[in-house]
Amino acid sequence: MSIATSGLHHVTAIAGDPQRNVDFYLRALGLRLVKTTVNFDDPGTYHLYYGDSSGKPGSLLTFFPWEEAPQGLHGHGQATTTAFSVPETSIGWWKSHLAEHGVEVSEVVNRDDEDVLTFRDPDGLVIALVAHSQDDPREPWDHGFVPPEHAVRGLHSVTLSVDREEATAEALSSDLGLRQVAEDSNRLRFAAGEGGAGALVDVLVTPDEPRGRVAVGTVHHVAWRAPDEDTQAAWREELADRGVNVTSILDRQYFRSIYFREPGGTLLEVATDEPGFAIDEPLLELGRALKLPPWLEPRREEIEGILPKLNLPQQQL
Ligand code: ZN
Repeated sequence: MSIATSGLHHVTAIAGDPQRNVDFYLRALGLRLVKTTVNFDDPGTYHLYYGDSSGKPGSLLTFFPWEEAPQGLHGHGQATTTAFSVPETSIGWWKSHLAEHGVEVSEVVNRDDEDVLTFRDPDGLVIALVAHSQDDPREPWDHGFVPPEHAVRGLHSVTLSVDREEATAEALSSDLGLRQVAEDSNRLRFAAGEGGAGALVDVLVTPDEPRGRVAVGTVHHVAWRAPDEDTQAAWREELADRGVNVTSILDRQYFRSIYFREPGGTLLEVATDEPGFAIDEPLLELGRALKLPPWLEPRREEIEGILPKLNLPQQQL
């Protein structure tokens, strides 16, 4: 087969306090909490998934809230900006909305003909809102804290910072099937499939910056879409045949995952579109109750005893 993803599946980052994380992404960004579960590799901590109404691939930003972890360091070897797509005329609205939430925002810059507003979440994670110049056909969640006419449509792109570009560019092409579509001084833009919002990655070449350290306020990994398990299995085999150090296929309950690192240092994942978030609770109730995979259900009482209590804003109920 020839490897080709159709775009971003999700971005996973590390937060500190889970309650602060929930409050910010629901109230300030207007996303939906689509799943409250635990980190399957560390079940005494949460894994919180935010996205659109049903948590479609390409809409998802997820967090491991690790209250005891140190602050991370932004730098090369990691994804340094996670960008969401918003309607073209909404940037002004977002500036004042974020100011009302006490968020300091950057000047609006124009990149690739799109206005970009950048800010940090309460843990220092860099988030951008991109006013997408072509209509983004994706439906926003229309019951959140942000009016639907301004609401986030889904992921727009991620920026990978690297100290040199060649090996990363080669891996994006051979391991994910991306193609370079633009170059602007030290920023190279790659696209998956048809390109556009949700299918873009920027490679920012920053040789003078320090190496980043992945901890609180940084991105843990960037996941790309595979349509189904058969495609993912073939993809994994091809990566392994070419000598890429790729994990076995892991059951993440809402998708299946493989992981490997691009040569610049960022951890990548390929995740299946199926089965999605409605497999263990109704769509209308997503995120409200702690969900555990079958193999952790026998430990529910112990796990609930360890996890800090979360108060979900009223609108989620
Ligand atoms: Zn992931």
